[in-house]
Amino acid sequence: MGHPQSAVSQHTLLVRTTGPQPTTNDQMIKAIRGTRDLLPPDTALWNFVEKTVGEVFGAYNFQEIRTPIFEATELFARGVGEETDIVSKEMFTWEDRGRAQSEKNQLLTLRPENTAGVVRAYIEHNLQQRGLNKLYYIGPQFRRERPQKGRYRQFYQIGAEVIGPASSGSESPMRDAELLEMLATLLDRLGVTGWTLELNSIGCAADRARYNEALRQALDPVKDKMCGDCQRRAVTNPLRVFDCKVPEDQPIIEQLPRISEYLDEPCRQHFGQVKEILTSAGVPFTLNDRLVRGLDYYTRTAFEFTHGALGAQNAILGGGRYDGLSESLGGPPVPGIGFAIGEDRLVMSLGKTAEEVSRKPDVYIAPLGAGMNKEAIRLARELRRHNIVAELGDETFRLKKSLETGSKLGAKYALIVGENEVSTGVFALKNLATGEQKSVARNELAGAIRASQ
Ligand code: AMP
Repeated sequence: MGHPQSAVSQHTLLVRTTGPQPTTNDQMIKAIRGTRDLLPPDTALWNFVEKTVGEVFGAYNFQEIRTPIFEATELFARGVGEETDIVSKEMFTWEDRGRAQSEKNQLLTLRPENTAGVVRAYIEHNLQQRGLNKLYYIGPQFRRERPQKGRYRQFYQIGAEVIGPASSGSESPMRDAELLEMLATLLDRLGVTGWTLELNSIGCAADRARYNEALRQALDPVKDKMCGDCQRRAVTNPLRVFDCKVPEDQPIIEQLPRISEYLDEPCRQHFGQVKEILTSAGVPFTLNDRLVRGLDYYTRTAFEFTHGALGAQNAILGGGRYDGLSESLGGPPVPGIGFAIGEDRLVMSLGKTAEEVSRKPDVYIAPLGAGMNKEAIRLARELRRHNIVAELGDETFRLKKSLETGSKLGAKYALIVGENEVSTGVFALKNLATGEQKSVARNELAGAIRASQ
């Protein structure tokens, strides 16, 4: 991003001195490509997802963590891996000017994912001591990818991590299976149908070293026929060849050795148990031994949930074990497993519409005639305390306009507030769908409106 500081301040000056000007379409300031505004009523779907996530993850005893959206670049270089697409091509990084002249400028990065930040926080705050080993997060992430449907430069992830010393059972295949079963439960609760869980084990560091060597040897005679990225990956980090999307490279990739042949006995057994527990928990999965995930920190179990309706960007979520991540960030040896759901894609694959999950006003309060606004706002305050959604009209509106506005907003009732009503304490409550009108005493209004909620 650099810091064209002077250009910014010059520009600000220009705007200030010239003041607001009529704008043409060309001059209009728009959201940056790859970012977007989430507007109502769609935001109701996002709220519905996030509320359900809190309930479901809460039932598995996860607690929320919020980490900063920017961190030292080195965190991602070390945590995610220099050779990954994310770190080598996609990060939004800038040099932060040191406060004092003598201070070195620091490289900072908008987080491209949240696991590295969570593990950093875990180490920094010694969460191990506090027994906080099940954490989840919801928030924006940033990657400079080519924007398309389902792929944005600012996107949102919902993730969870189980971290902790091996003595806490964090290495157990039970944790892997529990996390996957939790995801299946969440998707079911959200009404997302037609998902597929793809599962693989990419072994421990030693397996990966042997496998990488086998890949290097297999790639050596053919790498010249591959894309530039793969030629580089074949030398520096052959596993990353599986991230390649170039169609011409796929037949070569298809012929490469398979990770399943390189797992040592403990990893094979671990994976076997994950599969067994999942099967007995009734979570369906398919095996995919080409699934290696685009981040270097993964070990053993790797998984993705895909959804047919999403098109080219069909992964709703991905995750896996990262038993060595904490140590690579200078922390204690604490095995972990986690996942990140793409919230943008999850919302796209919901079977529900925004209408179905939004709250419409329960009542439209229509103050009729001069001096009625004060009474109307008092009534609105009373009703809203009972968790009733109330929208307020204005005393200058005629009754017809008030009823039309209430209907347009989708309110269930109109509550008419006129001089007569105020003096008697009995109000006209009109059902806007049926046209039926009742007289209701002030202290019974909330009950009458809620009865139909
Ligand atoms: P990753 O962190 O790459 O494992 O991604 C986890 C999930 O985040 C993916 O399965 C996607 O659903 C989502 N995701 C990743 N990158 C993007 C993006 N640029 N735009 C939207 N969603 C994304």
